[in-house]
Amino acid sequence: MKADPATAETRFQGIGVSPGVARATLQVMRDEFEEIERYSIEPSQIPTEIARFESALVQTRMQILEMQQKIAEAIGTKDAGIFDAHLLVVEDRTLIDEVLRKLETERTNVEAVFHDVADRYAQTLGQIDDPYLRERGLDIQDVMRRVIRNLQGKAPRMMPLHGEAHILVAHNLTPSDAACIDRQRVLGIATDLGSRTSHTAIMARSLNIPAAVGLHDVTEKITSGQVALLDGYSGRLIVNPTPETLAYFGEVELRQSRVSRELAELREQSSTTRDGDHIVLSANIELPADIATVAANGAEGIGLYRTEFLYLDRDSLPGEDEQYATYKCVAESVSPHPLIIRTFDLGGDKIAGGIDVSDELNPFLGWRAIRFCLEHTEIFKPQLRAVLRASAAGHVKLMFPMISGTAELRRALAVLDECKRELTLAGIPFNSEMQIGAMIEVPAAAICSQAIAQEVDFFSIGTNDLIQYTVAVDRVNERIAHLYEPSHPAVLRLINMVSEAAHKHKIWFGICGEMAADIELTPLLLGLGVDELSVSPVLVPRVKSAIRALSRAECCELVEKVLPLDTPSEILEYSRQLARERYPMLLS
Ligand code: PEP
Ligand code: MG
Repeated sequence: MKADPATAETRFQGIGVSPGVARATLQVMRDEFEEIERYSIEPSQIPTEIARFESALVQTRMQILEMQQKIAEAIGTKDAGIFDAHLLVVEDRTLIDEVLRKLETERTNVEAVFHDVADRYAQTLGQIDDPYLRERGLDIQDVMRRVIRNLQGKAPRMMPLHGEAHILVAHNLTPSDAACIDRQRVLGIATDLGSRTSHTAIMARSLNIPAAVGLHDVTEKITSGQVALLDGYSGRLIVNPTPETLAYFGEVELRQSRVSRELAELREQSSTTRDGDHIVLSANIELPADIATVAANGAEGIGLYRTEFLYLDRDSLPGEDEQYATYKCVAESVSPHPLIIRTFDLGGDKIAGGIDVSDELNPFLGWRAIRFCLEHTEIFKPQLRAVLRASAAGHVKLMFPMISGTAELRRALAVLDECKRELTLAGIPFNSEMQIGAMIEVPAAAICSQAIAQEVDFFSIGTNDLIQYTVAVDRVNERIAHLYEPSHPAVLRLINMVSEAAHKHKIWFGICGEMAADIELTPLLLGLGVDELSVSPVLVPRVKSAIRALSRAECCELVEKVLPLDTPSEILEYSRQLARERYPMLLS
């Protein structure tokens, strides 16, 4: 008998960004856009249009501040900080001035002019191949809708408030939408758009609501009222689940809620293997606001602070003093644990306002990170001085991204020495013993790691880039994502070379790419001799639990067995096998 497509089980695969399983009816929030009237105005009407525009901006600002206040009370100030980006949009002089100019030249009503200008900004950012900048585009769209509704005298768009608990499905969920979410009724979130760094993902994790994003055009394929299951671990949305599927996920839910309770108890425990080896388990942060989640999840400090995010949501570069204040505040808040500050990884796909980088055919192989900074000492030096100054206030370490060999590293160290001399001459204190590290994310650096190890205090392997360069698979290209294999023998052998070089020269090495958080691979990483793992704060408890269940000795045996193997799948299977034996409850 053929299954009825209206009732047959259908699975949609996205990216799991907030753990948990939800089972409920679907509520699809369609992205209806307001009809915008367009009409000509007389020159004498321009002052009235400007006044309407200014008052709509003031009203929008007040609504955002109100929303920020509401969310700060509900889930903490960290997440309310997301609305700072919205406030910047209503205060953006370039955007506002362009609207005022166009009012004069085009003599059209202000709703239409503002829509045209803001939409062009949002579209431009939306087309850039960088998740962070795409998010900024979505911020502009969110604010644009608000301003237009205020110009039209309409109430702000509200989330549908339905009596029944549901899984909310939307093309995209903006921070304003998320602020209106009723936690009692919204059991899960699924969106067409989004990535791990999207605001939907950030908010869902904070609200502790299971979520899957990047489900492509799922909103076109489902209807409100259908029953569904959302698996926030694997990113699956299953519509019309069969009784067998429901039973299977019922067990997953039970097991996972038991695991979460157990994991929460690990916060104060140490990340030490069964045979007594301590692995430093730290957290990666992008913005200073993320620090609240570091200690809350039991991380031992910050293993990667991606400072370029300071630049990405503004038009001008923060100066030395502003950076110093930020780094000092982050360092003090994680003290006595370390804070590892990575110098700007700008360029490539991360373009900041105020920085002139021309189009490149291969931006990931282009003018990025340390290459860019070495040629822009007017940007590099203020950052190095700010980090040095902050080193007097906390346990600060510094590392350089994209190092490809000793010559490049020495150039960076020479600039650092110059900054130290300048501070000494000016009588400004800093920690002259501050540890300096090199990120190993270019295969050339891994192969030359014996030489590099003699010049630094530690290595931090950026596997996100190391893998893409080793197997020649663009890390942001979805079409070839299946070829991006962390368990590739070449990747393992490169990590092994780095490990041997580090330990021979008595320096420590860590891993701060996403691979560090993949608990199916923890046995391999421990076997490769890693001293530190740095992962997204919410994933710290899972990785800690995995470390505590393994012994370094058995992991070393595993690595000896798999290093000579030729295929990623064989290596992965061996690692999975040990992971399954030691912590089956963590692997759903
Ligand atoms: C990496 O490449 O693994 C890394 C941690 O740096 P980013 O992801 O910021 O490039
Ligand atoms: Mg990198």
